[in-house]
Amino acid sequence: MKDFTFYSPTEFVFGRGTEHQTGSLVRAYGGTRAIVVYGGGSAVRSGLLGRVEESLAEAGVEYCELGGVQPNPTDAKVYEGIDLCRRAKADFLLAVGGGSVIDTAKAMAAGVPYSGDFWDFFAGRAVPGEALPVGVVLTIPAAGSEGSGNSVITKLDGLHKLSLRTPKVLRPAFAVMDPALTFTLPAWQTACGATDMMAHIMERYFTNTEATSVADRMCEGVMLSIIEETPKAMHNPDDYGARANLMWAGTVAHNGTCGVGCEEDWASHFMEHEVSAVYGVTHGAGLAVIFPAWLTYMAGHNVRKVEQWARRVWGVWAGADAMSVALEGVACFKRFLHSIGMPVTFGELGIANPDISLLVDKLHEDKGELVGNYIRLDRKATREIYELAL
Ligand code: NAP
Ligand code: FE
Repeated sequence: MKDFTFYSPTEFVFGRGTEHQTGSLVRAYGGTRAIVVYGGGSAVRSGLLGRVEESLAEAGVEYCELGGVQPNPTDAKVYEGIDLCRRAKADFLLAVGGGSVIDTAKAMAAGVPYSGDFWDFFAGRAVPGEALPVGVVLTIPAAGSEGSGNSVITKLDGLHKLSLRTPKVLRPAFAVMDPALTFTLPAWQTACGATDMMAHIMERYFTNTEATSVADRMCEGVMLSIIEETPKAMHNPDDYGARANLMWAGTVAHNGTCGVGCEEDWASHFMEHEVSAVYGVTHGAGLAVIFPAWLTYMAGHNVRKVEQWARRVWGVWAGADAMSVALEGVACFKRFLHSIGMPVTFGELGIANPDISLLVDKLHEDKGELVGNYIRLDRKATREIYELAL
């Protein structure tokens, strides 16, 4: 296990009706003038936004709204939001939604006190030293942004989808998590969310770090829970228990708990970010295509953890050699993804002829000549993985 500092100060308030506590939580974390950030309207239609704003008013928090954040959020909305925050003299950002809304709020939070262009942080030209506090009312378990120190934004000029990771500055102050808010999620979004959670765990699980027994077993346990609970939530959208377990799984998958002491990988996420930036696909569905291809490549190049994952998560015991066990694990993973309606090839994702040269070029332009850690991947390797996903 590697040495580590693990700092995860977010207050999680979990359970039915917890959105009514939002106003007092904003107050507790110093907010008096909040910007309420939300997406394309699901929170308006469900009545959630109204309940949250009522709670803000009851707590004496002034607020104004910034709606219309789209999935795969863009820099344009962040600039609009920073401008609004400054004009309104906001001291708090409240994200009501999923990863796209939360990430937009986080980027605004870092951008408001900064005199330069907020994109400097995402491009690696500057590091945010401070940010406005961010609170979350979560409506979809998926990205884990309610507990992470990350924000992922796409720059429209050139379609660069980049992530900023600064746990000390960007972790939300609190996250209100009512599983009943997720009853309205379409099956597709439920499945995309589950796939993203699995991916967040696997980015940590596939490590060369030795002696990671606690992390390994936590990762395996949470993956098994996601595999069990996702079909339940899809077949019975009002299954509170399944929704609750998925909601908490999404948080622990990405707030760092599962990867403490491990060198993490993240090549699959970076490869997917190029796909969702260029083709506008849902992040989780893109991961369902990329991750099995990445695993297939790894089975041939660094089989150790893939074999362990196949045995412990997918129960593969037949097969004497590590490679065939690993590949059977990948086959089980693909069957699971298909069973929850996910694509596992570019064609199934609706991209018949992906421009792989463009994806490879953008990936290495955005992320450097080598990506990932479990195996450091050069252009030849990432091309091979994209091709395995055809
Ligand atoms: P999302 O993009 O925030 O939302 C997806 C869709 O679900 C939207 O159309 C939204 O509709 C809808 N929705 C949300 N809650 C709903 C509900 N309760 N009922 C019905 N519909 C609902 O999804 P996400 O997967 O959470 O976020 C994806 C983004 O996060 C991607 O850009 C991804 O790259 C990024 N990401 C970030 C991190 C991180 O740590 N920051 C990690 C992984 C991924 P409305 O817009 O109408 O609300
Ligand atoms: Fe993700």
